[in-house]
Amino acid sequence: MAELKTQLLKADEVHKAAELLAQGEVVAFPTETVYGLGANALDPQAVAKIFQAKGRPQDNPLIVHCTGVEQVEGFVKEIPEKALLLMERFWPGPLTLILPKGDAVPAVVTAGLDTVAVRVPDHPVALRLLRAVPFPIAAPSANLSGRPSPTRAEHVMHDLAGRIPAVLDGGETGFGVESTVLDCTVQPFRVLRPGGLTVEQLAELVEVSVEAPAVGTEPPRSPGMKYAHYAPEAEVFLVSGPGAAAKIQELSEGFLMKGQRVGVMTWEERAPLYPGLVVLPMGHQGDLAELASRLFHLLRQADELGLQVLFVEAVSEERLGLAIMNRLRKAAKGREIRT
Ligand code: AMP
Ligand code: MG
Repeated sequence: MAELKTQLLKADEVHKAAELLAQGEVVAFPTETVYGLGANALDPQAVAKIFQAKGRPQDNPLIVHCTGVEQVEGFVKEIPEKALLLMERFWPGPLTLILPKGDAVPAVVTAGLDTVAVRVPDHPVALRLLRAVPFPIAAPSANLSGRPSPTRAEHVMHDLAGRIPAVLDGGETGFGVESTVLDCTVQPFRVLRPGGLTVEQLAELVEVSVEAPAVGTEPPRSPGMKYAHYAPEAEVFLVSGPGAAAKIQELSEGFLMKGQRVGVMTWEERAPLYPGLVVLPMGHQGDLAELASRLFHLLRQADELGLQVLFVEAVSEERLGLAIMNRLRKAAKGREIRT
């Protein structure tokens, strides 16, 4: 791939980003969840550049970002009544709905599936960009495939500088974990990926089921869930239960003896339990929103600090904790220790 000079555009330069998109180029932009790497969803050649820049497998479909329900109607076959209810209640917001695909959406966007993922992001810069172009924007997270998702423009630059023409800088994103993906083509609706909108919030309005973690032989219904994700260079160990601190202290000694750099992700109040380890603070104990917003930055910091081993204290899987633990399990690649 030819090396590009990547422009860092300011939030008031949306028109420049819109021009690039209209020319069939890709542009990274902020949303309320993570940064997205966008292209004209109706232009297969532009969309192909997203896969190329990220190194994303071709069979992992993209989310189509729209200005509102009216635009979505043009790209789906039908909207079930209960899905409409969710759109009215939670859009703009971190909820992606899987619906029967309309003919206008090119196959490359949905990886050949007959369903399409749609959402309206809740971020002023993303909405301005969407309104500045006459097409919806297909966008996955703006990281190199397999890396933690980007929550700051500098994370995007770190991964994609030289590979894309521009990053629109909107500062730090809000939620810090990606959208919740909900399949509305089955009954009851099924959560394929937990995310920024909690299962508890959804369940207040509609009946939902939650897909089991994608590990076994059955192909996951959300193709992206089968890929390794969110992984820093360090070996990540996810440790849960009342004996977590003692276990981390015990195991870290072995790694430290071998001369390895060892870190721990823990609540600020628990940092004193880990003298001798590099502490990556998760925020105040139990503040899941704060942890979600920091999560991917902390995983990237582990690399910057040159950590070879990273212990992570597991959190409760309620509310945002479900999305957080989903990402941590992938970062840990199965290295989970229960005490
Ligand atoms: P990303 O934007 O990188 O967070 O990835 C989008 C997520 O949505 C991935 O997990 C995809 O597999 C999932 N997704 C996109 N389109 C569909 C679809 N039509 N059916 C199921 N999952 C989808
Ligand atoms: Mg992603």
